Parts: sequence; C-alpha cells; structure tokens
Amino acid sequence: MENFLRLLRSKGFKLTPQRRAIIAALLSCAPFPTAQDIHRHIRQTAPDVSLDTVYRNLALLIRLGTVNQVNLPGGSAFEIVAGHHHHHLICLACGRAECIDYCPVITADLAQAEDRGFTVVSHSLEFYGYCRDCRPAG
Ligand SMILES: [Zn+2]
Ligand SMILES: [Zn+2]
Ligand SMILES: [Zn+2]
Repeated sequence: MENFLRLLRSKGFKLTPQRRAIIAALLSCAPFPTAQDIHRHIRQTAPDVSLDTVYRNLALLIRLGTVNQVNLPGGSAFEIVAGHHHHHLICLACGRAECIDYCPVITADLAQAEDRGFTVVSHSLEFYGYCRDCRPAG
C-alpha cells in the first residue's frame, strides 16, 4: 500500500483521509472489485463516504493511469495497475476476469484520433468467452 501511495503522491494526487480509505478498500477487495464492493468495504470505517465520491476518485485514479477499469458482464470493475499495461479475458458464464499480457492496439493507428483533435490517454479492451471451467463440453 505505501508504495502505491508514494506513486500517487508523485503524480500529484492529494491524499485525503477519504481517498486513503478508498485506496485501502481497492487494495483489499482485489483483484476486481466493483465500485459498490469498494463502497461497502469503506463504509465499515468511513461511513460518510458516498458511492458518488468512490466513482469520482476511481475516475481520477484511472486518469492518473494507476487504476484499470475492466468491463465485466455485470458492470464495471476496477484493478490496481500492477506493472505494465495489459488486457483481460472475461468469462461470460462465471464472470471471472483474467489478466492477459497482450495489447493489440497499435499506437500509430491512433493518429486518426489525433486528426480529430482528440488526445488519447488510455484505452480499455476486453476479450469475452468461456474459461476452462465453463467451456461448453465437446
Ligand atoms: Zn468461467
Ligand atoms: Zn489485470
Ligand atoms: Zn492495450
């Protein structure tokens, strides 16, 4: 946790007690908590933190590149970016997510976005299918 907090501070993230609580919850609900999971966890120690505050801070952490948003079939989940950029395999049957060390996005292709005056800061991509346990037999 301290390493992560140091990283956030170096990116100019102000560590209020509320934010500390959100990050502690994010870390202890790992690997893929939803905003509701994080909120439920926080309320045990910081009952005044609203779900809205959780969402706002998650958005900020994503912008800083320290949290990934993962789109599970049931809604968005979040993970701490440990190491480098990567994507996820998501099982449509059990909803489990797995990290995969692969990125098919070619940065040069994003020139199209820049032509529109759009600055790309991050992207999200999920592969949906069935995990080993849920794969239909045959
Ligand atoms: Zn599965
Ligand atoms: Zn991951
Ligand atoms: Zn990627």
